[in-house]
Amino acid sequence: MSETRSRRLFETASHLFPGGVNSPVRAFKGVGGTPRFLVRGEGSHVYDADGHEYIDYVASWGPLILGHANPRIVDAIEHAAASGTSFGAPNPYEIELAELIRAAMPSLEMLRFVSSGTEACMSALRLARGYTQRERIIKFDGCYHGHADSLLVKAGSGALTFGVPSSAGIPKDLAALTMVLPYNDAEALRDAFKDHGSDIACVIAEPVAGNMGLVLPEPGFLAAIVDVAHRHGALVIFDEVITGFRVARGGAQSLYGITPDLTCLGKIIGAGLPVGAFGGRAEIMRRLAPLGDVYQAGTLSGNPIAMAAGAAQLRELSSTDAYERLELAGATFETGLRAAIGEHSVHVQFNRIGSIFGLFFNEHRVRDVATAQRSDVNAYAAFFHAMLDRGVYLAPSAFEVGFLSLAHSSADIDDTVTAAKEALATLPTVARR
Ligand code: PMP
Repeated sequence: MSETRSRRLFETASHLFPGGVNSPVRAFKGVGGTPRFLVRGEGSHVYDADGHEYIDYVASWGPLILGHANPRIVDAIEHAAASGTSFGAPNPYEIELAELIRAAMPSLEMLRFVSSGTEACMSALRLARGYTQRERIIKFDGCYHGHADSLLVKAGSGALTFGVPSSAGIPKDLAALTMVLPYNDAEALRDAFKDHGSDIACVIAEPVAGNMGLVLPEPGFLAAIVDVAHRHGALVIFDEVITGFRVARGGAQSLYGITPDLTCLGKIIGAGLPVGAFGGRAEIMRRLAPLGDVYQAGTLSGNPIAMAAGAAQLRELSSTDAYERLELAGATFETGLRAAIGEHSVHVQFNRIGSIFGLFFNEHRVRDVATAQRSDVNAYAAFFHAMLDRGVYLAPSAFEVGFLSLAHSSADIDDTVTAAKEALATLPTVARR
């Protein structure tokens, strides 16, 4: 497969952007090879600069639940843009999108729009600290909440207590306020609160973990987070940037019946435009400026084009049997992939929730970052490239998830399963049983 144009563009981009990209995973470091420069998307398919067509399971990392260039979204964008691209003043589209969100996720009694998931999580964290007047926070290893300083933190060696920066440039004194615990480990959470309960402002969690591959919460884990945190006067923040409007219209909180104090959203609520939001109990949200003493602001927050696109997408999701169709597509995909995996006797753990899926080249069930890291990343890289060669665009990293959209047809899924059967047959025998 010729990649001449993508290679040339990547070479030029490498002189302009560190690593040739504007977000690290796009550089294909996890799988090797040349990133494809994408020039067009339509429905479930994307097209690269060399004219190759792929069935796309990245979907801009989740926002494109209706597929690429959905006509309703494009119309909404064109209509809004024709009346002005940004005002830096309130506009009616903000209300429309907020009401659609609150109707689906009633725990967001009030919310605030921002421009990314990172901003949503960073702001929710500041609000939780301001509201509780406490400084420590708890996050779970392997959960990603964007790249705010307090959240790019890993567990310190030996002790639970002090996190250490997971990136250069983060003050260690700030990282020390973040305690990092294993996902799905309610016991570790109880211990942390036993030792430091009165200092902990909040626990932030992905209710379904989608940034160490796909890891589902074990029964009782989410309830334990709320129970333990509330007993100690700490808030619970669910980061539903991936799961919101994805695993169900009401997000993971509706699926599992667990209500957090604050919720972070992104991706789907912007339909592929830069949007995030955080919201929750009105009493907490009223602490935000201009009402309260927790500062937060944004020149482009509530941008009319982004709001209009998000509202068009959420309207479409609420007025149709979208989630039943997504579940059906997900189940069909899962049956086909499991058959392909079974046929080739490879050690692959296939996880799925609705339209999100993840593959671990791993002999064992994955429940946290430690078990995820035992996966064979070389086998994933080989599989990724074998799929790419067959016209299937998966995430270029062994620890990212894949997304189906309402645009994926039965033919797309059949073609993907056929490609997977062929791709798995090409894997080095070391990955096979
Ligand atoms: N939270 C989660 C769960 C995410 O998956 C991501 C990004 N993938 C973020 C937050 C950060 O969002 P953004 O990239 O829009 O800043």
